[in-house]
Amino acid sequence: MTLKTAQQYEDSLRKLKFQVYLQGEKVANPVDHPIIRPSMHSVKLTYELALDPEYEDLMTATSHLTGKKINRFCHLHQSTEDLVKKVKMQRMLGQRTAACFQRCVGMDAINAVDSVTFEMDEKLGTHYHERFNQFLLKMQEEDWTVDGAMTDPKGDRGLAPHQQADPDLFVRVVEKRQDGIVVCGAKCHQTGALNSHWILIMPTLSMGEKDADYAVSFVAPADAAGIVYIYGRQSCDTRKLEGSSIDVGNKQFGGHEALMVFDHVFIPWENVFMCGEYEFSGALVERFAGYHRQSYGGCKVGVGDVLIGATALAADYNGAHKASHVKDKLIEMVHLNETLYACGIACSAEGYKTASGNYIIDLMLANVCKQNVTRFPYEIARLAQDIAGGLMVTMPSEKDLHNLEIGKYVEKYFRGVNTVPTEHRMRILRLIENLTLGTAAVGYLTESMHGAGSPQAQRIVISRQANLEQKKSLARRIAGIPAK
Ligand code: SF4
Ligand code: FE
Repeated sequence: MTLKTAQQYEDSLRKLKFQVYLQGEKVANPVDHPIIRPSMHSVKLTYELALDPEYEDLMTATSHLTGKKINRFCHLHQSTEDLVKKVKMQRMLGQRTAACFQRCVGMDAINAVDSVTFEMDEKLGTHYHERFNQFLLKMQEEDWTVDGAMTDPKGDRGLAPHQQADPDLFVRVVEKRQDGIVVCGAKCHQTGALNSHWILIMPTLSMGEKDADYAVSFVAPADAAGIVYIYGRQSCDTRKLEGSSIDVGNKQFGGHEALMVFDHVFIPWENVFMCGEYEFSGALVERFAGYHRQSYGGCKVGVGDVLIGATALAADYNGAHKASHVKDKLIEMVHLNETLYACGIACSAEGYKTASGNYIIDLMLANVCKQNVTRFPYEIARLAQDIAGGLMVTMPSEKDLHNLEIGKYVEKYFRGVNTVPTEHRMRILRLIENLTLGTAAVGYLTESMHGAGSPQAQRIVISRQANLEQKKSLARRIAGIPAK
């Protein structure tokens, strides 16, 4: 069963015994919780579309391990064409969900862990790559959603992990046994944690010798004993408890993040992919981040497509669509959005084969992609709010629209173009609110800023890859200055 149906996916999640807290209370059934469920719908769509012939080419791939058809989210990229298809798949899913569909972090993590464990084994004679392949085989066979987890709490940013007042501020090995390791610590902002079957943990930064206990990578079942999830709040999240399909903006889909705590979690050796090899932690961070920076050139573009469409509809409904400045602003939004896509495609097309055989993106272009993502969605959102008008945040609720006494006033005074029902105008303005200020703004804006590393992290990679000396020699030659 290499491709689960959407229903089988949902049923498989129900079997997991998550320890999860939301707003101070333990949640017995996360799958049906109204705040969590929209995020499950987004992941569920990645199963549904994999079985839809129309999307087969983007959503599925051929396993290099078994030759079977698998979900692309479980695949190791075997060519630059695979890398390009990944970005196209993400744009399409962003268009369909207008949310973070969460499953990419696992795909990016397996691709990074594959090449790093291979190189580690080559150099050190360890056996991590074989173990990783065993896990990958099961992941592909079972069509698991795997949550790649990198970001530690980090405490005082001026101190290394071993210098922190609290030693658990980075995930670490607290005990090594004959049968495995015991880990403590936490991972923050964990995208899609409660919609995942397994988690794949990686170190968050390049570790030094004194931080060898923190150079640890492993997989664990998402509901393993000792893992506790504390669900993250999102702006306007409690609207999902009200049962209104207008006020939530996006009536079906969402994303989520959670704090993932490891309170003495036992990991058998067969699930450990790095344990103390600190000199390889930097490569793992750089490759995972590189893949995820590529990802944003797809998913954020797809969400951007929805926002641009919503803005154009808002202009239509307001009767402002013929104004030249409105047309020009929509063109600007498209230009910015397609520039992000161009970066996502470019870093994929310029990818190359790693020593282990899978393909990696061009790091420079992936980092340029993500650096642009830290800016352009904010400008796109600003223009969307400009065109939408203030009503998107001052409008009454769905309950007012349907109130027997005052509904007629809402209907009358919030109508724009007379041919368009007031309810349609309200729906589209709420969608713009959702994407730029509500629950989806977590994924579309703040995550664009900080997800896959904050802006400065990309500038560091860009500066490392910039090769200014080569550029200077180009200038010298053109200007007629002798080479040094
Ligand atoms: Fe995928 Fe984008 Fe969400 Fe990351 S932010 S998991 S790339 S949808
Ligand atoms: Fe992300």
